[in-house]
Amino acid sequence: MESHEIEADLTKVLITQQEILDKIAELSRRIEADYAGEKVLLVGVLKGAVMVMADLARELTLPIEMDWMAVSSYGSGTKSSGVVRILKDLDTDLSGRKVLIVEDIIDSGLTLSWLRANLESRGAESVEICALLRKPEAAKVQVDVRYVGFEIPNEFVVGYGLDYAEKYRNLRDIGVLAPHIYS
Ligand code: IMP
Ligand code: MG
Repeated sequence: MESHEIEADLTKVLITQQEILDKIAELSRRIEADYAGEKVLLVGVLKGAVMVMADLARELTLPIEMDWMAVSSYGSGTKSSGVVRILKDLDTDLSGRKVLIVEDIIDSGLTLSWLRANLESRGAESVEICALLRKPEAAKVQVDVRYVGFEIPNEFVVGYGLDYAEKYRNLRDIGVLAPHIYS
């Protein structure tokens, strides 16, 4: 789906598909340098990270494995609840693995700081985080995110995997959702 097809639902296009792909290529070169000669386990956080995962995994020249987790901290609203629940766990044994968590966005940071501690406790050799977007709120919780694509303002965004009530995940760009949609 293209931004112009849902023009009335967006205040503006924040990041275009091409800008996203360029950034993912840039992050991939850093990841390849940092993990040279290693096998990385990419852990995608469902459902928001599906698009980042698909593009990042294909861009990387490293041997990778993919696994998925589903956690919930949001419901269908636009505010973080702070409560994290595992809805779907990993299939992979993490002992001795180099794990890279792949996320769409860090808002409060609550989800990721919880997730990192959880994966570390399973015996992973390392757990790092790659997030396409980061909001200013994330500064409040100390989460060390090694790879960040874009710092964005504190607005509710949709597209490229990010949803509002399960809609807009298939939008190619990332856009700011118009307030009349959620108020
Ligand atoms: P956190 O625990 O507040 O960092 O929440 C992170 C999760 O909230 C992300 O994985 C998203 O699913 C969701 N989220 C946070 N901000 C937005 C947004 O602007 N648009 C869509 N989803 C968001
Ligand atoms: Mg979501």
